Amino acid sequence: AAAGGPQYLNGLNPEQREAVETLDGPVLVLAGAGTGKTRVLTTRIAHILSQGRARPHEILSVTFTNKAAREMKVRLGHMLGQAVEGMPWLGTFHSIGGRILRTHAELVQLKSNFTVLDVDDQVRLLKQLLQAENIDDKRWPARMLAGLIDSWKNRGLLPGQVPSGEAASFGNGKGGKIYATYQERLKILNAADFGDLLLENIRLFRENPDVLRQYQNRFKFILVDEYQDTNVAQYLWLRLLSQAPSSSTSPRLRGEVDARSASGEGDPPHIVLAEIAPHPDPLPVKNGERENSATPAPPKNICCVGDDDQSIYGWRGAEVDNILRFEHDFPGAKVIRLERNYRSTGHILAAASHLIAHNEGRLGKTLRTEDVDGEKVTVTGSWDSEEEARAIGEEIEELQRSGENLNDVAILVRASFQMREFEDRFVTLGLPYRVIGGPRFYERAEIRDALAYLRTINSPADDLAFERIVNVPKRGLGDATVQMLHDHARKKRIPLFEAARAVVETDELKPKARGSLRDLVMQFDRWRAQSEVTSHTELAEIVLDESGYTEMWQKDRSADAAGRLENLKELVRSMEEFENLQGFLEHISLVMDRDGGDGSEEAVSLMTLHSAKGLEFDNVFLPGWEEGLFPSQRTLDEQGRAGLEEERRLAHVGLTRARRRAKLYFATNRRIHGTWSTTIPSRFLDELPAHNVEITESKGGSGWGGSGGYGASRFDNLESFGSSYTTPGWQRAQANRNRSGQGRGGFEERQSSFSGSRNDASGSRGGTSSG
Ligand code: ATP
Ligand code: MG
Repeated sequence: AAAGGPQYLNGLNPEQREAVETLDGPVLVLAGAGTGKTRVLTTRIAHILSQGRARPHEILSVTFTNKAAREMKVRLGHMLGQAVEGMPWLGTFHSIGGRILRTHAELVQLKSNFTVLDVDDQVRLLKQLLQAENIDDKRWPARMLAGLIDSWKNRGLLPGQVPSGEAASFGNGKGGKIYATYQERLKILNAADFGDLLLENIRLFRENPDVLRQYQNRFKFILVDEYQDTNVAQYLWLRLLSQAPSSSTSPRLRGEVDARSASGEGDPPHIVLAEIAPHPDPLPVKNGERENSATPAPPKNICCVGDDDQSIYGWRGAEVDNILRFEHDFPGAKVIRLERNYRSTGHILAAASHLIAHNEGRLGKTLRTEDVDGEKVTVTGSWDSEEEARAIGEEIEELQRSGENLNDVAILVRASFQMREFEDRFVTLGLPYRVIGGPRFYERAEIRDALAYLRTINSPADDLAFERIVNVPKRGLGDATVQMLHDHARKKRIPLFEAARAVVETDELKPKARGSLRDLVMQFDRWRAQSEVTSHTELAEIVLDESGYTEMWQKDRSADAAGRLENLKELVRSMEEFENLQGFLEHISLVMDRDGGDGSEEAVSLMTLHSAKGLEFDNVFLPGWEEGLFPSQRTLDEQGRAGLEEERRLAHVGLTRARRRAKLYFATNRRIHGTWSTTIPSRFLDELPAHNVEITESKGGSGWGGSGGYGASRFDNLESFGSSYTTPGWQRAQANRNRSGQGRGGFEERQSSFSGSRNDASGSRGGTSSG
């Protein structure tokens, strides 16, 4: 309609255009996947700049990942050509918070060159504090406290604002006190942890209204992508920045929470942190208690985009309510809905919409595509995860032969341990891949640690390996000890490990360190002896257990600890495929050697569903759709129905990443906690509309899936599909497996656990899927 206008507006639909052109006042774009929300944001920045409404540094644009920020910069560059000088403030909450904090560091008792601590540093520091308080680190692990503090920070809680019950829940009532001391110590060390980048920034703003005003004045436009996944701290930070600068100069609050500010009429920046979290109320928001609606100053030009159906970070404290109460928080907000999906073909979109409709807690929205129906979503069952990886590998090679670019292929997994199988497969096939949002499996810290133990056993002269784990978990063998070992080793021209053996016979080390080092040397001697008589997989289990390494992660309460434990189990599992430790370690060095490339070569992308947010690919492979894995049993156990709905949103995110092909997989056998068990196809498969889905056979090569069996059954009723599949297929596969002799060693034992759990599983099937 509106003919002409700048180039970048061309092709936008009327609602998108409205979202781009409504520059004054708050705007919320609440719309489903692939409707162009991110595109609207980028175009909006281009529009603001080309209309001369603000200079680049007067625009604040928050993305969920650094990668997303980089992409936005690139697109913006394309839209505007070289016309703009400077760049908007474009980054994640933490990167921008950190930038502001550095500028005013002295106001929060830091120097501008403060260090950002990683989790290990954080834990080390907390450990000292626990010691000083005489709190038993065994009973109250420092890592657990680190996790707690992190969650308090995500909720915007300074020490003193943590609800007393919670603060007391750790360390015989001393949790809150240690949090306070920890914050003080960080200042002395001129350090901040990750959570501080935002929390201390909030404190900075609250205690220094003049500084806050400076930023309120500066940022004429604020834009936020993935608003559904903001947590309380992020929300508070945005609220502070998005208020029109107040003329009131009286800094009413200093430091501590002040209950008065709850009713602090006319002074919205002073939000009582503790009062806002958690948000129990669904829409509509009850008025009164936390926000007065009589705020006179008009709110800023803030534009948030999001999709309640893609809220997947509840487990990290994200509050989907933030998006639901936007209109309340920003009175006069214009809410724009986008309904046309530009990403996916018909079948994919229909499958995704049908799936998410099973959630109760949602706003509900229409999504349509004008694209062709395209290919149906496929569902493929395979015998186990190895066959699944083989099948996907073959399909990808087929896509490649038919001319697809590997950059348009992605594998999205529920749990990072699933990646291992694919990475091994791709290395075998010589198929280039990249892991997005995290390291490759064998490069993960916990895997490198575990490997370092095994390498030290296998080759006592492997100094790098030994040095890596000499003090992991912490054994009181710090840098000074390691330095001494190095000196000794150099002088005597012996490996570090032998130096350790020699040094413990001297009195060069303090008794405690010496005892600890001697224990370690003896442990390694014992493990080496054991390696002669036990299988290498068993050895790995023993080592991880006896070294205290597994325990270290079990005690860790940080969000990724459980994933790390799963990775360790997967590592042990992967060892079974090799004759012995030597063979396994050789394989690893080959895998590690594989050049990651400079990122410019064509490669398959491998990532978790969580990291896939906002991205899109022509071909999306979704393995592991099994009960227990996806939905994740842990989430179900811990969060019940809400957890299930979040898992379903995750499935929805996965499906909606696909442009042309979405391929789902499940394996009927997986090794969980060291024992094989038969798994049940995910309930999410049951929830897909039959019309948009096609059941295909595994191309994994074992050839047992064959005719009849599951291929012939109606999809609509996956339950019967599941059982007709497991019975004959299962027996056939078992026979195959025995013939091909794949089940070395303990296979017989496993076989019995197969049948046991298979019966259990089919028995409980009816119970788990209520349809
Ligand atoms: P998600 O919820 O997954 O983050 P989104 O709403 O942010 O999705 P975008 O990534 O912005 O969606 O857009 C999805 C795809 O549709 C992109 O490839 C984008 O370029 C394309 N697209 C968006 N709007 C249009 C349009 N008006 N015309 C053509 N293509 C469009
Ligand atoms: Mg997006």
